[in-house]
Amino acid sequence: QEGDLPMSARNGSASDEECRITEVCRAPEDVELTELGPLLEESGGPGKAQGATAGGPAGAAACPEEEEEEEEEEGVRVITLPLQAHHAMEKMEEFVYKMWEGRWRVIPYHVLPEWLKDNDYLLHGHRPPMPSFRACFGSIFRIHTETGNIWTHLLGLILFLCLGILTMLRPNVYFMAPLQEKVVFGMFFLGAVLCLCFSWLFHTVYCHSEKVSRTFSKLDYSGIALLIMGSFVPWLYYSFYCSPQPRLIYLSIVCVLGIAAIIVSQWDRFSTPRHRPTRAGVFMGLGLSGIVPTMHFTIAEGFVKATTVGQMGWFFLMGAMYITGAGLYAARIPERYFPGKCDIWFQSHQIFHVLVVAAAFIHFYGVSNLQEFRYGLEGGCTDDSLL
Ligand SMILES: [Zn+2]
Repeated sequence: QEGDLPMSARNGSASDEECRITEVCRAPEDVELTELGPLLEESGGPGKAQGATAGGPAGAAACPEEEEEEEEEEGVRVITLPLQAHHAMEKMEEFVYKMWEGRWRVIPYHVLPEWLKDNDYLLHGHRPPMPSFRACFGSIFRIHTETGNIWTHLLGLILFLCLGILTMLRPNVYFMAPLQEKVVFGMFFLGAVLCLCFSWLFHTVYCHSEKVSRTFSKLDYSGIALLIMGSFVPWLYYSFYCSPQPRLIYLSIVCVLGIAAIIVSQWDRFSTPRHRPTRAGVFMGLGLSGIVPTMHFTIAEGFVKATTVGQMGWFFLMGAMYITGAGLYAARIPERYFPGKCDIWFQSHQIFHVLVVAAAFIHFYGVSNLQEFRYGLEGGCTDDSLL
């Protein structure tokens, strides 16, 4: 028993294959889960988890106070019940201690509780429900289905924190309107940092409990809307530098659409597997609303100017990366074609995460070029230019 507790990803896949062939290991996995559930729930706070019965330890723990009143009549039970309660408490503490030590093991998809069942192409390597934040954060350093999702956005967060701090500390002599331009860049970095932060937190505490996972999934989706809204701000600011009216209109529209996306994200069913295409559609639509100002700019300034000073090549690449990411996410490629082979690495969600970070970085590069162009001009605006 002790020896097979820390289970590696490869062990995990192997045992799952055994499962599919023999179904022998199904029973022990189920037992494992029902044992873990209520015991952790007792001390781990108000976690509503696992659908397992809490009757055993909870019932025993509640009895001693009642029994004390019947002391004279039922002397024997007075001794045994507190002992049972004590034993149950000890067993519980032992389990909680094991959790703190990180002594849990990954489990296959088919034993997950309903609220943790998200992607049935990931057959093994899932974390069990763990209603302890300490255990969840400890799992960052373990190998399971969420490890890649957590780290892609945790490292992305560090990257954008550094970029943001560098931009904010940049000497004001490089800006035409230092305060205004730093606020504009600040909106982009705020959106990116919040998105990446909510995302890695969501993937970390996803297995905590149904309530926590639902709350953080709403934050996660709201973060995507914030990233897209924040990305529009510097792009519109510099692309329509000399025509404040369309700039204000486009900015207002993207704010309204972004807030609408955040409101839709608060809908409880939005996070269910059934609405995966809905989610991809909402955020793709929000991003694709950028087509209107792009058309405006290209028609007014011409294709050549749009692709050179307008940086459209970079923004097109950025858009293509977001759309590819959303498409892979919605269709669950590649795990759809290789069920069980992408449990740990190269699942669609990880590719989507990497594409989001890369797209945001390319967007930052394009916007920085726009800023440089604006600074290089030094003078004001000519009558016939948006930029
Ligand atoms: Zn994610």
